[in-house]
Amino acid sequence: LKNLLKDPGLLETRGYVGGAWVEGDKGTFDVTNPARGDVIAQVSDLSREQAAEAIAKAEVAQKEWAQWTGKERAGVMRKWFDLMMQHQDDLGTILTAEQGKPLAEAKGEIAYGASFIEFFGEEAKRVYGEMIPGHQRDKRLMVIKQPIGVAASITPWNFPNAMITRKAGPALAAGCAFVARPATETPLSAIALAVLAERAGMPAGVFSVVPSSSASEIGKEFCENPGVRKLTFTGSTEVGRILLRQAADQVMKCSMELGGNAPFIVFDDADLDAAVEGAIMCKFRNNGQTCVCANRIYVQDGVYDAFAEKLRARVAAMKVGDGLEDGTDLGPLINHDAIDKVQEHIADAKAKGGEVIQGGEADATNGNFFGPTIITGATRDMAFATEETFGPLAPLFRFDDEDEVIAMANDTIFGLASYFYAKDLSRVYKVAEALEYGIVGVNTGIISTEVAPFGGVKQSGLGREGSHHGIEDYLEMKYVCLSI
Ligand code: ADP
Repeated sequence: LKNLLKDPGLLETRGYVGGAWVEGDKGTFDVTNPARGDVIAQVSDLSREQAAEAIAKAEVAQKEWAQWTGKERAGVMRKWFDLMMQHQDDLGTILTAEQGKPLAEAKGEIAYGASFIEFFGEEAKRVYGEMIPGHQRDKRLMVIKQPIGVAASITPWNFPNAMITRKAGPALAAGCAFVARPATETPLSAIALAVLAERAGMPAGVFSVVPSSSASEIGKEFCENPGVRKLTFTGSTEVGRILLRQAADQVMKCSMELGGNAPFIVFDDADLDAAVEGAIMCKFRNNGQTCVCANRIYVQDGVYDAFAEKLRARVAAMKVGDGLEDGTDLGPLINHDAIDKVQEHIADAKAKGGEVIQGGEADATNGNFFGPTIITGATRDMAFATEETFGPLAPLFRFDDEDEVIAMANDTIFGLASYFYAKDLSRVYKVAEALEYGIVGVNTGIISTEVAPFGGVKQSGLGREGSHHGIEDYLEMKYVCLSI
């Protein structure tokens, strides 16, 4: 992997704690390339004590960082952003090697990830307070916003760069210090971010990375250490619940970006070709391994067969392969468990009357590859109706009318992203308002941007990331009552 990089210094394998590069007290753990299964790095395995040390150093550094002006913090963040973009190719290569997504997508993630550092650096200057007219003649009321303190993050493997920057951007801009625990599968992208933070002149202790093979150990330290004032997590609803319970003892502020089960609805007045393109982007980006990927595709009766055929033709032409090779549309899944889950969902659907019209097979020669799959005749008793598949499986449900599909779309504990294609203006308003989701894409399959608030309702999470709202998750409000 080092040979593929223009700047081999980006491939660092140690942890970054309080501005120092550290070996792991617990030795190392292996990082493998999901496309080939070979070990690409041995990364320092930090202990719970080392996580505590990172928190202690962050507490000290945060006091000073919070004193910096917004413009000063913005200056360092701008340099960090510039370095990420300068090294976009190398960062993308590292990301593809550890995560599997095609290189073009990986580079796209680097630009997306970097955009949060740029955007929130700019926002650092705009953490405005408020003056409230006094409730008595001698009173002057003022509201100021201050950083919460040390923020700790736990992030998943599907976006090894952007899930960290989306949290670190607003945290650092607000004046919080940040301790990141990347996913065990993908620590290299996180560590590369630390290399660039150091080069950008980020003060020691403000941004630390604690790679570890034991998520639960580090998670406990983050929840139990009184030095941490804010926990920010992206991952499954199941683990989110565990962390919320653990964080309760300290009444810690939490942001949670949890699972989704996104509906993608195609009404009979939709532009079908656009809907097919949207479905491809939305379903198969990162091989279906994003929390905003379409999980249930609902197609109105009148256009069902035409949509299924157009989608099948597009999907049949997609190339599955090593993400580092040219022309790859879909990389491997992250590991064999992910393949098993897709296969279980296909078997379950077939047993209940679903028909596989495309794909359905794992590539026997190469463990983690799976052909993109379409199932027609999907029904609400099938597993994917209630559970995220997190893989390249597109089930097509048939529906008759608007109210019926809204009810089906909302019939889930999740509420992250939703999508629909329609042209009728009153239908567009009605459905957008009726969907119980934090995000609605209308006539588009791609909704992520740093300038908009990303987050879920119901059991998909707490808080929002991105946009000017995103920084609020890292700020405390203080009311000052002055008698003159
Ligand atoms: P995913 O299916 O995306 O991997 P998970 O919720 O399992 O979702 O994992 C998200 C992150 O949470 C990963 O970095 C994982 O290592 C971590 N994690 C898993 N279990 C725990 C736990 N008990 N405490 C803290 N972190 C955990």
